[in-house]
Amino acid sequence: MNMLKRFDPLMAKLLQKEEDRQRNTLGLIASENYASPLATFLEGSVFTNKNTEGYPGKRFVGGCEFADDVENLAIERLKLLFGCEHANLQAANATIGNISILRGLLQQGDTILSMSLSHGGHLSHGAAFHVSGKMYNVVQYGVNQETERIDLEEVRKLAEEHRPKIIVCGASSYPRLIDYAGFAAIAKSVGAFLWVDIAHDVGLVAAGVIPSPVPHADVVSFSTQKTLRGPRGCGVILCRQELAGKIDRAVFPNIQGGPKMDMIAARAVLFKECMSEEFKLYSKQVLRNAQALAKGCLSQGMRLITGGTETHLIVADVTALIPSGKEAEDVLNSVGIVTNKNMIPFDPLPPNISSGIRIGSPFLTTRGVKEKEMYDIGVLVGRALQNHNQPDILEKIRKQVAEIAAKYPLFADEWLPKER
Ligand SMILES: *Cc1c(COP(=O)(O)O)cnc(C)c1O
Repeated sequence: MNMLKRFDPLMAKLLQKEEDRQRNTLGLIASENYASPLATFLEGSVFTNKNTEGYPGKRFVGGCEFADDVENLAIERLKLLFGCEHANLQAANATIGNISILRGLLQQGDTILSMSLSHGGHLSHGAAFHVSGKMYNVVQYGVNQETERIDLEEVRKLAEEHRPKIIVCGASSYPRLIDYAGFAAIAKSVGAFLWVDIAHDVGLVAAGVIPSPVPHADVVSFSTQKTLRGPRGCGVILCRQELAGKIDRAVFPNIQGGPKMDMIAARAVLFKECMSEEFKLYSKQVLRNAQALAKGCLSQGMRLITGGTETHLIVADVTALIPSGKEAEDVLNSVGIVTNKNMIPFDPLPPNISSGIRIGSPFLTTRGVKEKEMYDIGVLVGRALQNHNQPDILEKIRKQVAEIAAKYPLFADEWLPKER
């Protein structure tokens, strides 16, 4: 750090500012977390120097004997953790992993049935502006307008009408559990693959606190930086053995060159951490904290999409309190509560304005916050929105936020896995 300060004081200052920002604010972005220090330690290690194009035992360069052991270790741990038949963790991020799945299993022009982005799906599931939307014939389902939940009857009708080659479920802003067995039955009845993208709630699946899609799906994909609490990057793909060759060839050499071996080493440690008792306790706390946060928000008159949550995240319609999600995000940021604007189902406002915000519990749970304070933070969110035109009240809220943030480290000691 001292060397950096001397050589590049500008960068050293920006690094310090970002650390202070993370420390002094309350992070509620549902897709963020504070990464495991142990796993992060492996990123930037000597494994970053190694080119390892190819797969263990089949590399295109020499000197890969220890890299092979590392990648095999990560894969074995994935199999143990998720009970899957095959795993690939070379994709640089989950979006690239998702493109690889489509490239591996489909021909250009084939039909995908997926959840629409505006109802909670992900852009890599065939959004019109994304490469996945340009290469394939995309048909999308949404949520039911009354229940705001996925309607399997609608999915079945669309599947029977359009005969997709692949059906996708798993979302970025859907607060309810998904009926994987129901999706699998529909996929089977029309001869489609079922691909489940658990980028968001994978940590909860790994900890066994919500159901796993692995027994029902042909392919499961996820990121590692959200509820799994790893460093940013890495797209993991789990699949049935008979699809292994297609998936592996799609990631390399179809989409990528050599993988980032330090990223893979870091994930091997991360997956071991995910098997620990501490991670199970952490994940249970994530769920309890999301419930408490939801109650706090509800107490201030916010309307929650589907009425609440069964996961780590909440989508709230803020328009009873403030004109838009964009303004909500800005006001909350001004008091030190970091969130993101989010479309709500059937949103009358455009995506860059939107009627809602999405918030979640993973980051603050990592910092050590428990239910009582999560409830209070939900109340502060609601109060800041109600009083968005009252600078004096916002200033008081800003002080309260700073006081709460000052009590917590970035990564609470209680979640560090015990030495074994
Ligand atoms: C976040 C997310 C991704 C993308 O993850 P990146 O690693 O940022 O590319 C993919 N799918 C879903 C459902 C997500 O929520």
